[in-house]
Amino acid sequence: MSDANPRESIHAIALPKLRELLVEAGHPGYRGAQVLEWVYEKRVDAFEMMTNLPAGLRAWLNDRFAFHILEPIRVQGSKDTTRKFLFRLGDGALIESVLIPASPALYGEDSDRRTLCVSTQVGCAYGCKFCASGLDGWSRNLTPGEIVGQIIRVEALSGERVSNLVFMGMGEPLANYKNLRSALEILNAPWGVGIGARRITISTSGLAPQIRELAEQPMQVRLAVSLHGARDEVRQQIMPVNRKYPLSELLAACEYYVGLKKQRITFEYILIREVNDTLEDAEALVEVARKVDAKVNCIPYNVVEGLAWVRPEEPRQDAFMAVLKRGKVTATIRREKGHDIEAACGQLRRQTLPVQNAAN
Ligand code: SAH
Ligand code: SF4
Repeated sequence: MSDANPRESIHAIALPKLRELLVEAGHPGYRGAQVLEWVYEKRVDAFEMMTNLPAGLRAWLNDRFAFHILEPIRVQGSKDTTRKFLFRLGDGALIESVLIPASPALYGEDSDRRTLCVSTQVGCAYGCKFCASGLDGWSRNLTPGEIVGQIIRVEALSGERVSNLVFMGMGEPLANYKNLRSALEILNAPWGVGIGARRITISTSGLAPQIRELAEQPMQVRLAVSLHGARDEVRQQIMPVNRKYPLSELLAACEYYVGLKKQRITFEYILIREVNDTLEDAEALVEVARKVDAKVNCIPYNVVEGLAWVRPEEPRQDAFMAVLKRGKVTATIRREKGHDIEAACGQLRRQTLPVQNAAN
């Protein structure tokens, strides 16, 4: 929490804890549910608006908690397209969230599925060679209030409800595990945001020990692993994390997750020309995906300014996909052009701050 905001975010407090604090302070515990009803159902943004609470309780809340409202400094896109929100946090740090409407081709014309891609850190320490988020290094973890706050703020700004969440924005969610867990509790709970666990996907670059921890907690969240290489020599070239957790260790953790959760996981695989997109790579991917019965989601690389990688041409992408199909792997490829959601991760922040980029 920044010094400017010493009070705890009201979006970071779970109902059991709030009840406990209320009782300690001499207020009835049932007030906790009323407070959170104002916060998450009625979506007020000030304690004064909680008109069924006694004035003394409102003052107590005001002393202890605050509405840390994320400040939108730029919004790109419109209602029927992907919308990117760039937010400034209390300490001036910038993060982004991306709202993606359902693709009519996949979900039908009137689907009200809306997915929000959220950030979990300012920057990223993992330095994957293809990714914009890590280019400026890592600054800090987001607090649970800042994670939950992204959903609250996007819903307020767009006037729409988010039905699905993906933790694929800036940062490595499993490197901020404790805050992620606290945020997930609030996002999932009926007294909180109330998004079903199966509609929440955590994406990780492959932190094997935390994948095991996530497997052991009861929430049925979905797991996506940024694989991007199915052989150690290829993967470690583009993802330094692979030296710490090589494929054998990562796959063992994935098997553990699948075994406990009884659900399939997804491997994300960016196709980068002549780096990881040869037919030999495709064969290796078939083997790895079949080992853990994972679905594969291929994404043609989105060019990041300042990085040398290139997106393969479509015939090359098709040849890669054909190998997966022959290998009986459930695989899809996302082919939106240009600045689609994948382009968003960490890139909006950089586009907005050319001066800072140059200084770095
Ligand atoms: N740190 C987590 C979550 C954030 S990255 C992780 O690595 O999984 C979310 C996804 O965006 C990852 O699959 C990542 O590999 C992908 N991504 C990053 N840069 C990209 C680019 N230039 N083109 C396409 N996908 C990219
Ligand atoms: Fe970090 Fe994920 Fe980007 Fe790698 S792909 S640098 S882990 S955000």
